[in-house]
Amino acid sequence: MGLDGTVRCRCFEEGRLRPGPVPLEDVYVDEEGYLASRTLDEARERLTRRQFDARYADLERAFDDWLHSCCEHEDAELCAEHVASWSGCAEFRELVDRAGGDKNHPLLSALLPDGTGGTYPAEKAAATLAELDRFAEWVAANAPQVVHEGRYGTAERLRRLLEASRASGNPIRWC
Ligand SMILES: [Zn+2]
Repeated sequence: MGLDGTVRCRCFEEGRLRPGPVPLEDVYVDEEGYLASRTLDEARERLTRRQFDARYADLERAFDDWLHSCCEHEDAELCAEHVASWSGCAEFRELVDRAGGDKNHPLLSALLPDGTGGTYPAEKAAATLAELDRFAEWVAANAPQVVHEGRYGTAERLRRLLEASRASGNPIRWC
């Protein structure tokens, strides 16, 4: 339980997906940042669940299977992190508040979602990383109880997600 984050690789954008059960022209990135099939999504809109299952259940299963191994990255992910438990997320927010809140860290203050779902835009990754560096220094000096072997784990995991987002140009997907 808690917050996870993933960043999709660029194999779709770079045309490096393996052939799958639908033509590659049918594959697109949906508004939540996931690879999806136009055929399946349009059918889902148009049909009742029962009609959809009767006609498309096999294709849906094959498409979902393909997504796990459609490129060299497992699940087409460049980075996948269990960010923190919900109490760990609350602790992160509290530390950001103590470090000056949104006045000092406007991006970090709004980084974590309220629940699961939604995305964090890649355009903000570089500036958020700069705030995270400053914040990590503050934590090391002011909150040693959350630092283990020189690292505050939640911040390190967020850093890996943000770095993958900056490198790929794809958003962090919260889940
Ligand atoms: Zn890939």
